[in-house]
Amino acid sequence: MKAFVHRGQITKVVFGSGTRSRIPEEADALGCHRVLVLCTPGQADQAAETSDLLGAAAVGTFAEAAAHTPVEVTEKAVAHARTVGADAVLAMGGGSTIGLGKAIALRTGLPQLALPTTYAGSEMTPILGETEGNRKTTRRLPEVLLKTVVYDVDLTLTLPAALSVVSGINAMAHAVESLYAQDRDPVAFLMAGESLDALVRSLPVIERRPDDAEARSDALYGAWLAGTCLGTVGMALHHKVCHVLGGMFGLPHAETHTVVLPHVVAYNGPAAPEAMARIAQALPGDDVATGLFDFAARLGAPTALRDLGMPESGIAQAAELIVQDSYWNPRPVDRTTAHALLSRAWAGETP
Ligand code: NAD
Repeated sequence: MKAFVHRGQITKVVFGSGTRSRIPEEADALGCHRVLVLCTPGQADQAAETSDLLGAAAVGTFAEAAAHTPVEVTEKAVAHARTVGADAVLAMGGGSTIGLGKAIALRTGLPQLALPTTYAGSEMTPILGETEGNRKTTRRLPEVLLKTVVYDVDLTLTLPAALSVVSGINAMAHAVESLYAQDRDPVAFLMAGESLDALVRSLPVIERRPDDAEARSDALYGAWLAGTCLGTVGMALHHKVCHVLGGMFGLPHAETHTVVLPHVVAYNGPAAPEAMARIAQALPGDDVATGLFDFAARLGAPTALRDLGMPESGIAQAAELIVQDSYWNPRPVDRTTAHALLSRAWAGETP
């Protein structure tokens, strides 16, 4: 008998092509008629279009979302939301913009909608990461869960191929760690496997043809499933390593996940045979970790932490932080094994 606990999701999900046009009715369904649209400066035009679509139900855009959700940006956005009398926020963008929406919701209680445009998956999780000074903290808070997520495949067509690849592998990392999570459940396992199948199938096509609608649809579907898994079960060593590296060296999020994943899979493999078998089903080959490394390399993604700006002198301190206050992991980790893993990932060696 297999005993488990499964937590269901409360977020309404609308998925398809052209679904952005449904934003006015989704806002209305929540009883929201003064929606503030959030974005990064780079997506201001797209956000203005969404604000136009909402017409009288929008109170403009706030286009200052930034990586790692800095508290000073959140405070400015909260003040702006209060000034314009917003009754909801709509995050249009990737994890950075969705993070800002969650941070505003935590402080104001405003309901959130999102139009995700990357594969990071934050829209499906109760996880909020925030940065104050140079300290990033991450919490799981049910109150930051989104009410409605509208996935519009058309909005992902502009995500550059290189960013699509690393963002997609970021999603694969959520799926991989869900397969061996301490609190894994059969539903999360099924979703994670399906997510890996969809992403492994679609990312090579997107790398060659970023405007391939079918592949874009597959990738966004895989990302939704991976984000749902991330929001449902606990993560392990891989997410701990990426969290430490992002915080210590300000490394780019999706790229760091891409480099680290094959090394953690190589390490955890012997302790997680069922997970490895499911990954191998998505990515057939002699060795799962090597398969993930070759997959990323073939798509032109980075394979070495040194190429992302991590100094070699930081390896020892990062290893120390990884074992301090560590996440649960299927295989015990100590300073020596963490150091060895980081050294290989830093140099870009095969796992
Ligand atoms: P991002 O949101 O920082 O976006 C990267 C860049 O791509 C931005 O400049 C953005 O404007 C641009 N962009 C996004 N979509 C685009 C599109 N369709 N076309 C053109 N440009 C586009 O990157 P991300 O990887 O999505 O998110 C990373 C952040 O999200 C990190 O801070 C990470 O910690 C956080 N995150 C949080 C969770 C969670 O559950 N809380 C999950 C995953 C990631």
